[in-house]
Amino acid sequence: MVTTYGNYVNGEWSDSKSGATFKVTNPADSNDVVARFQESTSSDAETAIQAAVTAQDEWAETPAPARGEFLKQAGQELGERKEEATETLVREEGKTRSEAAGEVQRAIDIFHYYAQKTRDLGGVVKSPSGRDKELYTKREPLGTVSIITPWNYPIAIPSWKLAPALAAGNTVVAKPASEAPNSTRIIFECLDEAGLPNGVANYVTGPGSEVGSSLTNHEDIDAVSFTGSTAVGTTVAEAASEDLKRCQCEMGGKNPTVVMPSADIEEAVEILGVGAFGTTGQSCTAASRAIVHEQVYDEFVTAMVEYAKDVEVGPGLEDPGMGPHVSESELESTLKYVNIGEEEGATLETGGTRLTDGEYTDGYYICPAVFSDVDNDMRIAQEEIFGPVLSVIKANDFEDALELANDVDYGLSASIVTQDLTEADKFIDGIEAGVAKVNEKTTGLELHVPFGGFKQSSTNTYREQGDAGLDFFTSTKTIYRNY
Ligand code: NAD
Repeated sequence: MVTTYGNYVNGEWSDSKSGATFKVTNPADSNDVVARFQESTSSDAETAIQAAVTAQDEWAETPAPARGEFLKQAGQELGERKEEATETLVREEGKTRSEAAGEVQRAIDIFHYYAQKTRDLGGVVKSPSGRDKELYTKREPLGTVSIITPWNYPIAIPSWKLAPALAAGNTVVAKPASEAPNSTRIIFECLDEAGLPNGVANYVTGPGSEVGSSLTNHEDIDAVSFTGSTAVGTTVAEAASEDLKRCQCEMGGKNPTVVMPSADIEEAVEILGVGAFGTTGQSCTAASRAIVHEQVYDEFVTAMVEYAKDVEVGPGLEDPGMGPHVSESELESTLKYVNIGEEEGATLETGGTRLTDGEYTDGYYICPAVFSDVDNDMRIAQEEIFGPVLSVIKANDFEDALELANDVDYGLSASIVTQDLTEADKFIDGIEAGVAKVNEKTTGLELHVPFGGFKQSSTNTYREQGDAGLDFFTSTKTIYRNY
């Protein structure tokens, strides 16, 4: 018996007016239907927006620490449901159990973090240019905001937008990606259990072209927080700018890790292996380019290929090294790029083939791929692949490596593996990326520091997470008081 889940609008679980639903299947076994969800329309989005608008004043007037209590309670609810949420995430998105458990824990931590932050929503006090005056700022909520999220972190990303938006006193309408709406649904159940007032947070499933578009264009939406591909994010940013909505779009990546001769090659391979093949390469921050100094290039390629061959691929619930792709179309896209790489003249050292036998028959499995002899102007070195494909590019020296690292349209996360402090410092200064790491993988983020990209990885308007999350969801009012 397949469960059909509703939208969460004005504190009720309800069906779409369309009467239509869509199904979500398990990427490890396409015969396993996870659940059905509402194929909502613009009219459903409109109803949710009106519920959020109606709830807004009361929510904004609720003392911030009292809002924080709801977030804390929701975080506790999610903590109690951690195992269930982890399995839900594995079953709809394909992550390994360890990866999914880490993501759910991240969501729990985010709710607790922003619950605490509600006590510190102050402004700044400055010295006025005159006697008997006061000069200070205060934060105010924006109003009703929309949250549009991708499938690849379907519990963490909605949480890192929802929690600061609610903490700041906004009401929210959220639309998850249709590949993985089930994990996001759990967050709303937790908010409901926490007793969040009706209409404060709403969840509407359905096509981006219809529901997402309404959440971007509607005149009662005051701000849009989007995470997804650069192609869709660009249209969202353009549409939102038409009536000057505040908008943040965090988008794709093509992230480099530079490996210098002083690096411990075993450590570099581990950093790149986890960065490139973890989450099946389906992270915006996944390493997809290894830019390796010529002195250690051959040694690195040999060791990287061995690593890739050893990655155990399987169903996420068994907690292997790497799970399946989220969907057939994502798998097809990765296979297409493997072909492109071969046609472009790069050497496919290992992997890149679909796994189809035995337990793999009905899943979207691929062996992790390593390409050597990659030129930086090849498509496999320039375009986001969103699968476990690593391109290894040779660099003559540090300057060449830095230039190659920057020679892409994206600028999300980048790392260098080196023992040389000068190289590390020059890399931090010179890399065009929102996240720069030394002797670390490009993936993996702390929740209390800003996150966001440069260049086409972001609209570069605001950052997410930490205090930056609150900056996006608040307006600053400056007060001049003469008494
Ligand atoms: P996507 O752009 O296809 O979809 C993202 C969301 O936008 C989905 O909810 C989708 O339904 C919605 N959408 C689609 N068309 C829309 C429209 N016209 N108007 C409004 N909304 C619309 O992305 P995806 O395939 O779900 O996710 C993968 C992408 O997300 C990758 O490019 C990845 O790099 C990126 N991503 C970025 C970050 C980051 O923080 N920079 C994090 C995770 C994923």
